[in-house]
Amino acid sequence: MIKEFLKTVFLVDIIESLLIGIKCIFKKPVTRNLKDINRGENFRKCLYIDNSKCIGCRNCSSVCPNKSIKIIDKNNYKYDCNRCSYCGLCTKSCPCNAIKFLERNN
Ligand code: SF4
Ligand code: SF4
Repeated sequence: MIKEFLKTVFLVDIIESLLIGIKCIFKKPVTRNLKDINRGENFRKCLYIDNSKCIGCRNCSSVCPNKSIKIIDKNNYKYDCNRCSYCGLCTKSCPCNAIKFLERNN
């Protein structure tokens, strides 16, 4: 009872909170700035499949975690760059080295 009274009178809780806040000012941030994160060399590039090399095996589309590539046949494919996370799994899975990431024009 007296302890609670003294705590209230001397604003112990408020002072403790302030000390925690002051300590946090000098701590290293736990979050990272987005521009400092290395997202791989292919980030913001555009996927291109060389039709002369592709055999239509669909390894790339089946390995893609985001379903960004759809192989229709060895001459036609669809790629949705908005779904791509640039992980590079498709390029590693291609037995013909047909997939490249090229710089975008825009
Ligand atoms: S880089 Fe990754 S997410 Fe993008 S198409 Fe290839 S496998 Fe899919
Ligand atoms: S993995 Fe390579 S060869 Fe197979 S469908 Fe994809 S691009 Fe074509």
